[in-house]
Amino acid sequence: MTNLFNTYNRYPIELVDGHDFHLIDDSGKEYVDLASGIGVMSFGYKNPIIFQSVERQLKKIWHVSNLYQSSPQEIVAGKLSKLVGFDCLTFFANSGTEANEAALKLARKYTGRGKVMTFNNSFHGRTYGSLTVTDYPGIKEGFFVDQTDVVVASYNDFSSLSLLDDSFVACIVEMIQGEGGVNLIKADWLEQLAKKIKACGGLLIIDEVQTGIGRTGKAFAFQHYSIKPDIITSAKALGAGIPVGAMIAKSELGSAFTPGSHGSTFGGNLLAMASANAVLSLITPELLKQVESKGQLFLSLLKDQLVGCDQVLGIRGQGLMIGIQLDSSLSITTIIKDLQQAGYLTISSKHNTLRLLPPLIIDKKNLVSASEAIALAIKMQIGILR
Ligand SMILES: *Cc1c(COP(=O)(O)O)cnc(C)c1O
Repeated sequence: MTNLFNTYNRYPIELVDGHDFHLIDDSGKEYVDLASGIGVMSFGYKNPIIFQSVERQLKKIWHVSNLYQSSPQEIVAGKLSKLVGFDCLTFFANSGTEANEAALKLARKYTGRGKVMTFNNSFHGRTYGSLTVTDYPGIKEGFFVDQTDVVVASYNDFSSLSLLDDSFVACIVEMIQGEGGVNLIKADWLEQLAKKIKACGGLLIIDEVQTGIGRTGKAFAFQHYSIKPDIITSAKALGAGIPVGAMIAKSELGSAFTPGSHGSTFGGNLLAMASANAVLSLITPELLKQVESKGQLFLSLLKDQLVGCDQVLGIRGQGLMIGIQLDSSLSITTIIKDLQQAGYLTISSKHNTLRLLPPLIIDKKNLVSASEAIALAIKMQIGILR
């Protein structure tokens, strides 16, 4: 008996407690979290700095409306601007899809144009605006999603660029397609795309909902490349599990939004700001360097241990965002369940890909044992099939 809509395929595990990068289920079994929720708990469970910041706010008041001044919002927006590296304005929402809604609205209002380019295998969220730019046929089916003003072009494909002209308001693109299979962007393609949309008078929207907040070894993944986005969206890890999304735009775009243009009852909530403020204080050059070296270690361990497995079609990633693509003879669900039994929590992604997004604070010792457990689970599947 349930009173919940059946919108999720849930595993028969209930996680009730945790600390650092460990989670504990209701039977007391402990797991190493290799997914961070879905890229949310980058600084682990019960992180003392985040906990104290939220607790301090919790003891005061945890909501005021956006009709009043908010220095917590100012502080977090200031930190975001500093991390992005150029003068920015932020609109606070409550989720990734809402951040993307705000981005699409701002871009259209600013340019007065309608047409947006998005890419195959993209994921930008599940509300109607975000759905129009999400290339996931399954999640749009039956919802009468109107894609009149949207062109879905090919990711990493230079021929997509020739489709752009001055009727386009923006391109929206992920630096690594997270839901779409952990697909890395090609640097030269991204740089050409940025140049082309700018030449057309349109805006470059970078969706960093999954790749941002240190995940790839930079504060934002676009910083691996020599491009300057017009709008960046963030969410997932930004609030460490307290719902928050952010639409961050270069200051010149500010004129398009005036009082009443956009808003949110909960956006920029005091608890969310207390959490985000602490999260951003943890994004230090030392942390980013560690993410880079842990990511390189994890990737090379996985590659070493899976070398010669023909059913492994690719192992790729950047920082601590890694995908292992398997051929269709292997069941990702079985591998995920075997790993749960072995005490590791993982998730999947499109194209039969095992997705790894461990908390950034995981230690190297656990990355070594995790890589062994993952390789074993995959090899067991291969063995069973032989
Ligand atoms: C998760 C995700 C979203 C949607 O975020 P929600 O908070 O679930 O609305 C949008 N874009 C990307 C790249 C994501 O990974």
